[in-house]
Amino acid sequence: MTDVLVIGGGLAGWRAAEAAVKAGASVALVANGAGNSPDIHAINVPVAPEDSPERYMEDTLASGKGKCDVKLVEILCREAPALAEEFPFDRNADGSYKLLQPLGCSVPRCVSIDHKIGAWALAKIKRGLSGKIEVLNGRVTELDFSRARAIVIATGGWCGKYGFSDNPPELRGDGIDMAVKLGAAVRDMYLVQYEPTVALAPARLRGIPVITTMLYEGATFRNKDGMEFLPDKHANKDEISRAIQNEIVHGRGVLAPEVPVIPGVWFDATGVPARILETTYADTFKRYLAAGVDIRKEPMLVAPAPHTSLGGLVIDTRCRVLKPDGTPIPGLYAAGEVTGGIHGANRIGGSAGTEVLVFGRIAGSEAASHAKIQPCAVQGNNAS
Ligand SMILES: Cc1cc2nc3c(=O)[nH]c(=O)nc-3n(C[C@H](O)[C@H](O)[C@H](O)COP(=O)(O)OP(=O)(O)OC[C@H]3O[C@@H](n4cnc5c(N)ncnc54)[C@H](O)[C@@H]3O)c2cc1C
Repeated sequence: MTDVLVIGGGLAGWRAAEAAVKAGASVALVANGAGNSPDIHAINVPVAPEDSPERYMEDTLASGKGKCDVKLVEILCREAPALAEEFPFDRNADGSYKLLQPLGCSVPRCVSIDHKIGAWALAKIKRGLSGKIEVLNGRVTELDFSRARAIVIATGGWCGKYGFSDNPPELRGDGIDMAVKLGAAVRDMYLVQYEPTVALAPARLRGIPVITTMLYEGATFRNKDGMEFLPDKHANKDEISRAIQNEIVHGRGVLAPEVPVIPGVWFDATGVPARILETTYADTFKRYLAAGVDIRKEPMLVAPAPHTSLGGLVIDTRCRVLKPDGTPIPGLYAAGEVTGGIHGANRIGGSAGTEVLVFGRIAGSEAASHAKIQPCAVQGNNAS
């Protein structure tokens, strides 16, 4: 028996566990893998002098194309600046933040710690919780309120179900299935964001995305004839994916001998200064070099792949999972990619990391509050 059961070992889950412990709750966390969170490279925090939570909100709503839950976006953008007080994001010699401009942002907004904020934050939270919570390995298939006063679903998205994706296969939407069995509402389940630039070859790099911010540094796309396309370097991820797909469906895609069924296009970073590739993009540069491709001289073969589930469980601003009539399911909370509505029809690059840190904390703290006023084990839900 625990106060709060967290399902999912990504950043949303660990962040929820951290907040619940801070609120005095006993916590157990169960997961069947690491999820996408260790791959988070950078996150959006409006810290540039010309930036603000309002501007971040404008960008998010514009990118979401009318599909965002405005109240959730407001929380995301309002709470994001506080992350700069909590995390020692990388800075330049003059003290300013090192910033990248992700697709969909009108100003540079992505901060990081050594280009690995996801892994860094996970390690920090796990160190802080060492010995304070119970951690279990395994796949949960049913929400069991006989063992927890409150449950936080943080099982991530479902893009692992696709054959060619940059997500691990354990991300198949289990949390959504389980919550729906308890009467939860879902939204926008047809919305999946494709990452435009996922490696097709060499084989050992297949499924690993190449960061699109390289477009701002001089990278471009070329089709099988070597023709450059996509002149608008400020396009969003969905527009870039569509432009690539357009080349492919019109027979201008490139087939790698080792993946003859999925055509791609060339992502050509040879126009990016070598110094920037070797430093800002050191991980990509070294990864390709180890696989026999020098991206300072050769293009990378990429194709769009399912990357982020944009739809998911309907939550309110307290991360309570809602039923179709808008009322909460008592004791059930959710945060992270398992939820829908924050990014609308198109997520700005870097906003998922902000989302899991902001909403993971809210879910954990709200679940702990619920557990305190809920001494009895059975919640009246249809759970076994
Ligand atoms: C390659 C890659 C790079 C990315 N880079 C960035 C970036 O730089 N910036 C950014 O903002 N976003 C980025 N994203 C998106 C971001 O990683 C995710 O949206 C975010 O990590 C989701 O966090 P989460 O905690 O909700 O889910 P996840 O981190 O995916 O964790 C889900 C957890 O739930 C567990 N789980 C699932 N089902 C079950 C079950 N039935 N029982 C038990 N456990 C279960 C999984 O094993 C996992 O531990 C990237 C995504 C990918 C794929």
